Amino acid sequence: MKPKYIFCTGGVVSSVGKGLTVAAIGRILKARGLKVAIQKLDPYLNVDPGTMSPYQHGEVFVTADGAETDLDLGHYERFVDENVSRLSNVTAGQVYLTVIEKERKGDYLGGTIQVVPHITNEIKRCIKLVAKRTDADIVIVEVGGTAGDIESLPFLEALRQLRTELTRRDSLYVHVTFLPHIGATDELKTKPTQHSVRELRGIGIQPNVIIARTDHPVNDDIINKIALFCDVDESAVIPLETADNIYAVPLMIEATGLGDYILDRFKLQAGAPDLHEWRQIVSRSRRVKEKLRIGIVGKYVELHDAYMSVKESIIHAAIHLDNDAQIKWIHSGDLEKGRASNALLELDGILVPGGFGYRGIEGKIAAARFARENSVPYLGLCLGMQVMCIEFARNVLGLEDANSSEFDVSTAHPVIDLMLEQRAITDMGGTMRLGEYPCELMPGSLAANAYQRSAVNERHRHRFEFNNDYRDHFDRRGVCFSGLSPDGVLVEIAELQDHPFMLGCQFHPEFLSRPNRPHPLFSTFVRASAAFRDAKAQMQGTLHSGVESGDLS
Ligand code: GLN
Repeated sequence: MKPKYIFCTGGVVSSVGKGLTVAAIGRILKARGLKVAIQKLDPYLNVDPGTMSPYQHGEVFVTADGAETDLDLGHYERFVDENVSRLSNVTAGQVYLTVIEKERKGDYLGGTIQVVPHITNEIKRCIKLVAKRTDADIVIVEVGGTAGDIESLPFLEALRQLRTELTRRDSLYVHVTFLPHIGATDELKTKPTQHSVRELRGIGIQPNVIIARTDHPVNDDIINKIALFCDVDESAVIPLETADNIYAVPLMIEATGLGDYILDRFKLQAGAPDLHEWRQIVSRSRRVKEKLRIGIVGKYVELHDAYMSVKESIIHAAIHLDNDAQIKWIHSGDLEKGRASNALLELDGILVPGGFGYRGIEGKIAAARFARENSVPYLGLCLGMQVMCIEFARNVLGLEDANSSEFDVSTAHPVIDLMLEQRAITDMGGTMRLGEYPCELMPGSLAANAYQRSAVNERHRHRFEFNNDYRDHFDRRGVCFSGLSPDGVLVEIAELQDHPFMLGCQFHPEFLSRPNRPHPLFSTFVRASAAFRDAKAQMQGTLHSGVESGDLS
């Protein structure tokens, strides 16, 4: 069967949850037994977001095949529950790079290289490649940014060209807009949506479906008005109110009838939607239950998007253990200055996520020390494992200036050091140890018990690793290296023996957690945190703070 394409653009403003909406559409189509692939086209000129600041871009999502991609791909994997590949994120930077490299090789035989047709052809090639490689029934293609952005024009032009190349039954254009609310008159306004559709039409695209995001209920008058002014069927104007729970979005979209509308338009036969498991997740997450306070200690905590998959993984694990995860965002810089140390006292579990660069490191080390000394469950992800080892070296092994050579190149004790194969690398883009690698687990360890397996595959993104010169020393004092690369060379998991749950992994388990299948390390961490909370309640808070600003020399 020829693949069908859903092209999804945004209008009016950004940050209305277009990526989530697309992921949710993917879910309701998959629920009908269709094979769905999703792709994000990002109009910026970076080749990938790997070198961008989390302040600019949020989390970098790593695919199994080692691509550093947009965080929307995380939503796609969590909602559709299919692994995407590097083909699912195309940036203008990649497109231009490919075209210019071909030009340098002389592939264009003396032609003048232009945005149309060369750049647009390359964009269309990338879109069709996803369909070919995944053998999907439906490919959903999301264009980043909003209609009217200068840099998205070549992408929209490519979509316009595809409209004529594909038949009417093979393509559908969805435009996601926003309805602002005027408080004084208590009205929702459709004018920005009308303007945004006019902008698209100017480019030659007439949307078939309009998803109107809003924070307020939408009445029929508004729907009729959008349908009339934007020339879209009334049944294809889909109001989508902000949800209290992102996992409810597929159910909300299903309830609008959009799934059947899409199938009808494509003349596709498919089964009735099976959203049973999904409904269970949502109703379970809404049940009233005990609060569990998990602290995420990072340097970008004011921007929660920087830790998107970590946050969602905690939520998944908590839902399945009938706990209400209350995420406490703790700035590692504040801990360094001794300002947030009281916040640690309130926590039931501490998580130190991945990160780069020295800023805030001493605060993360202080958090690891607090967790170790006070038996607070601790999960360290990538950098979080590295700071756990630095803290142990400094305060248990007595190696006072122990550090990572990432933060202090002249430290006498580089317990974390640059990986051998990274030493000659000078380019920053796409050169880390990236993607899925196998890891063997030590029988009887916390990790092996959590996974209930002897070997796993996990996704990586790092340049530094545990320095094997220190393995015996750590081992003798109670650190178990419970996960190793199959050749035994790379430490992938370290855990403390004399602690209820203090575990760090060099990989990023957060990329594998799904709402219907929480990751075993997160589940075990959340379970340990709930046990710690319950024990603490019994002991009536005899805990004392180990973090004083004076400790942070
Ligand atoms: N900066 C560390 C490294 O490169 C950790 C990376 C991370 O946390 N993703 O090894």
